[in-house]
Amino acid sequence: MKIVNDYLTVSTRGFNDIKDITEGVKEKLQATGLKDGQVTVFVQGSTAGVTTIEYEPGLVKDLSELLEKLVPSSRSYYHDERWGDANGFSHLRAALIGPSLVVPFAEKKLRLGVWQQIVLIDFDNRARTRNIFLQFIGE
Ligand code: ZN
Repeated sequence: MKIVNDYLTVSTRGFNDIKDITEGVKEKLQATGLKDGQVTVFVQGSTAGVTTIEYEPGLVKDLSELLEKLVPSSRSYYHDERWGDANGFSHLRAALIGPSLVVPFAEKKLRLGVWQQIVLIDFDNRARTRNIFLQFIGE
């Protein structure tokens, strides 16, 4: 059993910017030399999330619209009053989606579905550079 820690760094535009990070995770997995195990994909920050979707423009837009409907950016939240950075909606969306994902791999391949990509979603109200911590555990 071996543990390998690594990072992906991704630049975003904020405002529900949805980035496909699947290739990045695959490349890092190859570099580990591990065959079987799992990787935790964890975004460091309270205004971003990690999940999977079918990464195609229609669904990317659908997901963004759903999040806008669930947690509108047009109203104000208690966080905005207390902190003044006007991104209460970003924190709430991040809490809904969650910051991490575990993906199993076997025979050096991530066991994702054919139409399933790993995505980073940046909910913040400005452009950001995100560090995504990757922890591979396997052998
Ligand atoms: Zn904030």
